[in-house]
Amino acid sequence: MRNKLSIALVAHDNMKHELAEWVDWNWENLLRHHLICTGTTGRMVENTLTERRTIEKHNGYSEITLLKSGPLGGDQQLGSMIADGKINAVIFLWDPMQAQPHDVDVKALLRLATLYNVPTAINRSTADFLISSPLFDSEYTPVVKDYQSYVERSLK
Ligand code: PGA
Repeated sequence: MRNKLSIALVAHDNMKHELAEWVDWNWENLLRHHLICTGTTGRMVENTLTERRTIEKHNGYSEITLLKSGPLGGDQQLGSMIADGKINAVIFLWDPMQAQPHDVDVKALLRLATLYNVPTAINRSTADFLISSPLFDSEYTPVVKDYQSYVERSLK
């Protein structure tokens, strides 16, 4: 039995075309997972997968959760899901050539993905490596550092 994972997909505007190509390339694999996307990215992913299903006459269906658009809080919503342990992998094609109005949110999202040791691809080649990893289909649980001593630290 192959695992159904919760995979987050996010792309900045200049990177959306690249993510759409990647989704199209990996459509069959992605259809069996739960996809969580920021708003605009999610609509694009939905269109790409719907087109593919139509062309291939494929009945597979992917559950897609659309969060708010990234700059309107979607990145923060995703960060919250990561903190709650609800995300198994993140594909985040962020734009290295253009400043974003929600730069702090982008940083916060990447910080939480790192803190909770969530497999995260920030460019297309890493996304290729990630989705083709045998660990994708195993019962892999990332080790998360124990922060109990931090939580219980003395503030005197
Ligand atoms: P969007 O958000 O998918 O709504 O464009 C992307 C982002 O987080 O910048």
